[in-house]
Amino acid sequence: MAKRIVFLGGGTGGIVGSLALAEAKKKHNLDLEVTVINKDEWHYMPPLWMDVALEGLPIEKTRAPIKNLEKYGVNVVIGEATKINPDERNVEIADGRKVEYDYLFVTLGLRNGWEAYPGLAEAGYHNYDPEAAQVFNKALNTFKGGKVVILVPEVPFRCGIYPMEFASVLGYKLKVKGINAKITILSPSMNGMDISWGLGPDIKRLWNKYFNRFGVEIKTHEGIERVDPEKKVVVTKNYEEPYDLLVKVPPPRPPKVLEDPMFLFEHDKRFVKARPRDFRHPEYDDIFLTGEHSMPPTGLGTAGVFIHAATSKAVNLLLNELYGVGEVHEHTPVACVAYSGDKGFMGVCEVTFDGEKYNWQKCYNVMESFAMKLVKRAFYQGWLDRLRM
Ligand SMILES: Cc1cc2nc3c(=O)[nH]c(=O)nc-3n(C[C@H](O)[C@H](O)[C@H](O)COP(=O)(O)OP(=O)(O)OC[C@H]3O[C@@H](n4cnc5c(N)ncnc54)[C@H](O)[C@@H]3O)c2cc1C
Repeated sequence: MAKRIVFLGGGTGGIVGSLALAEAKKKHNLDLEVTVINKDEWHYMPPLWMDVALEGLPIEKTRAPIKNLEKYGVNVVIGEATKINPDERNVEIADGRKVEYDYLFVTLGLRNGWEAYPGLAEAGYHNYDPEAAQVFNKALNTFKGGKVVILVPEVPFRCGIYPMEFASVLGYKLKVKGINAKITILSPSMNGMDISWGLGPDIKRLWNKYFNRFGVEIKTHEGIERVDPEKKVVVTKNYEEPYDLLVKVPPPRPPKVLEDPMFLFEHDKRFVKARPRDFRHPEYDDIFLTGEHSMPPTGLGTAGVFIHAATSKAVNLLLNELYGVGEVHEHTPVACVAYSGDKGFMGVCEVTFDGEKYNWQKCYNVMESFAMKLVKRAFYQGWLDRLRM
C-alpha cells in the first residue's frame, strides 16, 4: 500500500517538502501519496508583506493558489486542523473530516501573540499578516512626521533581521519624501546587547551604516509591561517611550493546534519540541516538526531559510529510510536576501551540528547592491510563480 505522507500547513515548509517528495516519487517511481492540509486556499510568501506595507504592493502579488500543487501530483485538503491524534495517526479538520497518515510533517509557522501584553493588540501597526500590512500602508501614506517606535517585545521573533531591515527602508523612504521623523527600535536586552548584534559584527556593521545615515536609534529594554494606545506610550520595565507611530513585532506563540503538553517544548512553551538530529517528535517517530514553531528548540532561527533547510533534510532522511533514495546532507550555510535602505544584500550564516543541537558559527554580508533588491523580489515572485501557472 502507498505510504501516506501528510504536510500540515501549506506555507514555506509544506511547499518545500511536498514538492521534494512529489519530485522523488516521479523520479524513482515510488509508491507514496503526498497531501498538504492548509486552512485556506492560499500559499503566502510573508516577506512580501513588507512590500505591501511600504510600497502598496497588492495582496494578490504575495500569494498563489495552493490547489495548484495538484499539478505536481500533491493532494490538497483545504480546511483548518483542530487536532492531531498521534496514536490513531490522523488529523482532525474543523468540518469533521479526518486525514489519515503514515508520516506527518507539521509546518504551521508561529502565531502572532498580540495578547501577550496589555494594549499591544489595539496599538500600532504591523505587516505580519497581509490585511494588517494594507492598513499599515494607508497609515504610512498619511504620516506627517514625528517619532516612529519599532517595538520588539521578545526574542526570538519571526524573521530575526526584520526590525533593522524595516528601519533601514523606512528611514530611506521618509528621507526621500522629506518627512522629518526619528526612528527608535526598542530591543529586548540580551545581556546588555541589542538585537542588531544578533547576526554578529559583519551584519551589525551593515545596519550601523543605515542607522547613522537615517539617525535610527536602538534602545534596550528589560521587558514590556504594556502599551497605552490612548496616551501613545510604550511602558517597559525600565522606562516609558512615547510614540507618534508605533510599528510592532509580534511575540511568538505556538499555533493553537499544537498547544498541548504532547507538543510544547517544556523549557520554553512558546515553541514546539523536535529532536534536533532529525526534527522528529521525541516520542512519535512518524511525526516530523520542521515548521517555524520548532526551530528555536533545535538551535535554529525563526526564518524561512531555516525551515527550508530543516524540511529538506527531514524529507531526505525519510526517503532514505523508506526507499534508500535521497541524499541526506549535512547542514549547509543558509543564505537570505533582504532589503537594506535603498539597496538589498545577501547574508550567509554558517551552521554546524554538534550532535545535540545546531550552532551558528558566523554570519556575513556577501554582497550589497541595488541589484540585490531586485534579486529579493525576483526570488519571491519566482517562488510563487511555481503555483501560478
Ligand atoms: C513579515 C515577515 C517577513 C519575513 N521575512 C523573511 C525573510 O526575509 N527571510 C526569511 O527567511 N524568512 C522571513 N520570514 C519568516 C518566514 O516567512 C517564516 O519563517 C516561514 O514562512 C515559516 O514557515 P512555516 O512553513 O513554518 O509556516 P508558514 O509559512 O507560516 O505557513 C504556515 C501555513 O499553515 C497554515 N495553517 C496555520 N494553521 C493551520 C491549521 N490549524 N490548519 C491548517 N493550516 C494551518 C497557514 O495558513 C499557512 O499556510 C518573514 C515572516 C514575516 C511574517
